[in-house]
Amino acid sequence: MSTTRGLVDRFGRTAADLRVSLTDRCNLRCSYCMPAEGLDWLPTDDVLTDDEVLRLIGIAVQQLGVREVRFTGGEPLVRRGLVDIVRRTSQLAPRPETSLTTNALGLQRTAQALADAGLDRVNVSLDTVRREDFATITRRDRLHDVVAGLEAATAAGLGPVKVNAVLLRGVNDNQAPELLRWCLQRGYQLRFIEQMPLDAQHGWSREKMITAEEIFACLDTEFDLSPAEEPRGSAPAELFLVDGGPATVGVIASVTRPFCGDCDRVRLTADGQVRNCLFAREESDLRTPLREGASDQELADRWRVAMLGKRAGHGIDDVSFLQPSRPMSAIGG
Ligand code: SAM
Repeated sequence: MSTTRGLVDRFGRTAADLRVSLTDRCNLRCSYCMPAEGLDWLPTDDVLTDDEVLRLIGIAVQQLGVREVRFTGGEPLVRRGLVDIVRRTSQLAPRPETSLTTNALGLQRTAQALADAGLDRVNVSLDTVRREDFATITRRDRLHDVVAGLEAATAAGLGPVKVNAVLLRGVNDNQAPELLRWCLQRGYQLRFIEQMPLDAQHGWSREKMITAEEIFACLDTEFDLSPAEEPRGSAPAELFLVDGGPATVGVIASVTRPFCGDCDRVRLTADGQVRNCLFAREESDLRTPLREGASDQELADRWRVAMLGKRAGHGIDDVSFLQPSRPMSAIGG
């Protein structure tokens, strides 16, 4: 069906970075992501089995040019088969880079096993290092688990360990310098992410979100930031040297400084749907053909076709923008 090998879209972008959601379930309830009572989780039968998800990852890596596989969720550490999925992904030829985006609850127990299975790196989500604020934001008093998980990740060699933080107005928006200092002291690379319209409760508003400009202004009060010289490429974070370096801090300004023109990402949801953009309103079903006996070639062709619908930009700033019906936790952040 297609003459190209890779996942190329109509604008010439090639997706080589696959985000695989392993579950839509999570053990935190971050206020900007999920309601306190959680969500209606995907029916178990809809979720791809370990063998199914590995078959699709194999097609992506061996036929479609994917070079990096990031496991996410929901919370990927709650997926029972995670270590085995990582091991089998790492054994693919060519071997993709593998990473995990996690809230780090339970990482203390599994970091070494994940490293032994071939995991290269982790990104840990942590919005505050104050216990009460952590409990307010996540609705769980588990800061100590995250801290232990981060330490275990470093000890297991899953570095450079990155920390992702979202700032919320009136909650932790005055804590950017404190969080950066905390990360610098421990050797973690901190990246701030602008809050995006992806929460299940539809509570996001442009006026309330903390912008990259505000984050810079807040950091400037304590640190000297200068643009890092390395080319950014398709990386979502703009990197800055802190006080002349070598330590850096990143800002992912998806809303106010979109980087869609350089996007090289594609997503696979836990129920086997390809999403060519975090904000896409359409998905392409691979689970049904996979379960109906499609060949690897057919699945690869469907995946290539799914990329052709990728839009030039996410369109958050368009008046016609509509939030996707799946929230972040069910897409895979
Ligand atoms: N549970 C894992 C974790 O905590 O990293 C993986 C999934 S979580 C959805 C991935 C990332 O998305 C987290 O860093 C989280 O803070 C971020 N996130 C969730 N909702 C968001 C939103 N509305 N805007 C920006 N980031 C969001």
